[in-house]
Order: sequence, then C-alpha cells, then structure tokens
Amino acid sequence: MSYANLAIHTFTTKPWSITECLENYARRGIGGISIWRETIAGEDLGEVRRRLDDSGLEPISLVRGGFFTGRTGAERAAALEANREALRECAALGLPAMVLVCGATPGQTPLENRAQIRDGIGAVAGEAADLGVRLLVEPLHPMYAGDRSAIASLKAANDLCEELALPNVGIAADVYHVWWDFDLEHELKRCAANGWLDAYHVCDFRPELEHPLLDRGIMGEGCIPLKAIDAMVLGAGFAGMREVEIFSRRWWAEDQHRFLDEILRAYDEIYQQ
Ligand code: ZN
Repeated sequence: MSYANLAIHTFTTKPWSITECLENYARRGIGGISIWRETIAGEDLGEVRRRLDDSGLEPISLVRGGFFTGRTGAERAAALEANREALRECAALGLPAMVLVCGATPGQTPLENRAQIRDGIGAVAGEAADLGVRLLVEPLHPMYAGDRSAIASLKAANDLCEELALPNVGIAADVYHVWWDFDLEHELKRCAANGWLDAYHVCDFRPELEHPLLDRGIMGEGCIPLKAIDAMVLGAGFAGMREVEIFSRRWWAEDQHRFLDEILRAYDEIYQQ
C-alpha cells in the first residue's frame, strides 16, 4: 500500500511535537503534512523549516487563520493582524496555503458575519498573494455557525469565492462538515470547475458525539459515506492529497503509533481497495 497521496494534520496526533510528527509520518511513507499553529507554538520556525525540508514530506497547508468577525472595528483589526502573523508563519515554513476557519460572533446575524468575513479575506488576500500563499475557506458544519464560522455549507463557500473573485482564494472541503449536503456533488463540481477545490480533508462523523469539537472518528468509525464522497471529489477532478484530520480525545489518550496504525488501516480499507 502506498501513502504517497495521504497527508496528515499535525493536530491529529496532538500529543506529538512537530519533530515527532515529521519523523513518524515520514517513516510510515506518508506523503504530506498540514501543520497546525498549535504544534509549532514556541518553535524556531527556521529549524522547523529545515526539518520539514529534510523529512521529504510535501508541505500542504498551515492550519489555521480566519476568525475575521468581531463586534467592533478594533476587534476586526486585531483579527487581521493575527492573520498577517499566521501568513508570515506560513511563508516561513514554505507552506503554500493557509486554511481559514472564517469566524462567527454571537449576537451578529449570519449575514453580518458573512460580510465581515468577505471584507477580512479581501483585506489580507493581497498580502497572502505576495507571500505566495493561497487562502482556503473551509466551510464548517452548521452546528458551528454560532461561534466558529458563518460559512456553513460548500454552497456558501462557493458563493463567497465567487463574490471575492480573487486568484489566490479557494476552498478546503472537509467531509466532516459537508457530508450531509444533498447538493454536495453539484457544489464539488462547481468548486473544482472554478479552480477552488484546493484541499480535501477526511475523517468520520460519529452521531453520538461526546464533544462538539474533539470527538471526530477515524474513517469508518462514523456515518459519512466516505467512498461515495471520494468518488465525487475525484470525479470533480481533484488531484491533490487526501488529508486526514482527526481531533479525538479518545484517540489522544492512546499510544499515537497505534492511532496512526489504525488511521492507515482505515485508509487502506476505504481508499485503497
Ligand atoms: Zn478540515
């Protein structure tokens, strides 16, 4: 089995340092890595960059920027500064894209949040382009629309990209967030046809969620029709890596090598048979 077309998000193996992630992913023949800012907090970015280059792993994206919404102009300006800082990290590590969790502020309407997101992305997209970074809007499941992202469907993300019409703004489609959508195939085709389908995240959705954020399943542990969605994504023309992104307090309590074994076993079963 080959894992050349598989990338892992470092937050998946949260107990591991960036050095452990790089070594252990590369040792298993995994092709790429998406790096969470939490994993590199306090690290010397130049040193991380050297280890990343030496690992042979393909750098995919920095996770994450965004959270553009805020009640006041000062809050929104601070959000832009935080995004500029993240963009500098992204460029320092040689990552070609930054995933955006776009934001939502309780007390504002979804449309108010959306307008602030549009303006926020518009404000930093030029700076991102100068750094060679693509900005990837990740639509989130609607259960997070209250405080994490007003962009709560692939259609909403496509509509936003269409309105922005910026050459370095695309989309990260994560099965956890979009699997329920009747119009998924149509919106994936629309996304790919416009050149926005930049990233594809996989995991599984456990209906008996024990935590709203930290109980994602390994592929096969939940109810997402993963093979059917994979056929849609590839059928739409996506040629990038499948990125495994699992946040799980259950699995973080286990030995992370065993967790990685289970991820690879599930990957073989679902995507390599
Ligand atoms: Zn994701």
